[in-house]
Amino acid sequence: MSKSTTDWKKTADQLDIRVQNVIDGRVIECANRTGVEKRAARNGEPIYMAPEGTAEEADKAVDSALRSFNDKRWRGKSLSERQSIIAALAGLIEENAEQLALYDCLEVGKPISHALGEVPIAAGMLRDCAHLADKFYSSFIADGSYSAHIRRKPVGVVGAIIGWNYPLIMAAHKVAPALIMGNSVILKPSENTVLSAARLAELALDAGVPEGVLNVVQGSGAIVGTRLTEHSNVDLLSFTGSTATGKTVMIAAGQSNMKRLMLECGGKSPYLVFEDCRDYMDAIAADVVATAFQNQSANCMAGSRLLVQQGIADEFLEKVISETQSFVPNDPFDPDTAFGAIMNEGHLKRVLSYVEQGQTDGATLLCGGERVRVDTNSDTQGYYMSPAVLRGMSAESALAQEEIFGPILSVMTFRDDTEAIALANNTCFGLSAYAATSDFGRSQRLSEELRAGSVYLTATANPFSAYHELAREGHRQSGFGAEYGFPGLASYTVGTTVHQWT
Ligand code: NAD
Repeated sequence: MSKSTTDWKKTADQLDIRVQNVIDGRVIECANRTGVEKRAARNGEPIYMAPEGTAEEADKAVDSALRSFNDKRWRGKSLSERQSIIAALAGLIEENAEQLALYDCLEVGKPISHALGEVPIAAGMLRDCAHLADKFYSSFIADGSYSAHIRRKPVGVVGAIIGWNYPLIMAAHKVAPALIMGNSVILKPSENTVLSAARLAELALDAGVPEGVLNVVQGSGAIVGTRLTEHSNVDLLSFTGSTATGKTVMIAAGQSNMKRLMLECGGKSPYLVFEDCRDYMDAIAADVVATAFQNQSANCMAGSRLLVQQGIADEFLEKVISETQSFVPNDPFDPDTAFGAIMNEGHLKRVLSYVEQGQTDGATLLCGGERVRVDTNSDTQGYYMSPAVLRGMSAESALAQEEIFGPILSVMTFRDDTEAIALANNTCFGLSAYAATSDFGRSQRLSEELRAGSVYLTATANPFSAYHELAREGHRQSGFGAEYGFPGLASYTVGTTVHQWT
């Protein structure tokens, strides 16, 4: 992508920031506010007063989605009509790229160049789902006068609850498969990132998605999130967020109407580096660091645990430290920034506390881990820290076990394959795992033994680029339910097995 020449400070100053619900086709400014100011991650300046959503607003959105599902204004359209509307929405997202990227950049602190790069990913998700939907087929058997097939139908009313780290992408990842399969949706963004989801729903109306089919309700997890998870007219709850909240969602789903669940939760992914990669250490070290610190490590799939074989550990770590030090925190509005700000003051303090506690518990800080000042031409300061690498923690320590969701790489060493696999699998999570080895047999064994929904194997640190038409799912306490591809579409359907005799 060519570098943007936009003056982002000026564009941001001209932004019309509104905190809105989209309910029943109406885009309405949120009436209730918490009194807590949301501040821009890059400079700490207030951008809006956080919304205080109500259970009544959630109810209205569910009622609206249910009405739209029952009267078939969306699911009753032909698939080709739905495909062209979803494709039109993808086009509108791209036309509004700068606005959407700015929203995510301001709220999350991610570099503007990255936020701009996420817009086509969100649009691509809509196009992928539209493209796959007419190739989605079901089982069929025929035997003489008897035949049977499985008719796949939309589930009904889908509640979608998402976290704050990739606001636009996550919204698109929920909305695209849910809508193309004919469901009606209530999307609840994180209370930390409210802007792009509402704009997406507004654009969906412009693209021709009927009123009430895609609703957005702002508010806290405790009030609006809980209401959606407990609501008896929500048929499927598709959740992306932490493992702790995922468990609460499961209880509410079970205690209400036994709604279906998809849970995309946390991770603490290992990156294993074997001695047989000695010749490629520079490239692999760069890859380890990029995998660990992308999006300031607010990334469910971050390779936050580096497991390196003892024979190369010291030499490899020198390269990792040098790479990490090239990730210098900088103003997200600078198009050259690769590592931006942390989402808010509270999260920054939480991440820094792990650096301190880790050292108290016996780990050694190799680099970074400090709050830093970045000049943004503002009277207030943003939320920045230098990415940290720590070594020598125990396998049961918080640094080795807990999802920090901030720029800390925990390093441990192993002797052999058995110890590597045991260490890699020694967390409650199972989202992704990365390994660098030039031994083909070992890489095959790793893909079997590593308890992770996605395993990325490389010999020479080719950049990992995922193919999203293949499905993925979490293992263990990273959640369950397929995303992407045909299984991802199937997640948003229910099957009726039809038996027929002629
Ligand atoms: P979070 O669990 O704090 O919040 C996620 C969402 O749940 C928010 O919208 C929040 O308002 C809502 N929520 C909170 N309490 C709730 C409740 N009791 N009932 C219903 N909803 C409730 O997570 P977060 O900090 O916003 O996001 C970060 C987490 O998301 C990390 O753990 C990360 O790994 C995970 N994540 C996972 C994936 C994945 O694909 N597996 C992708 C992105 C993020």
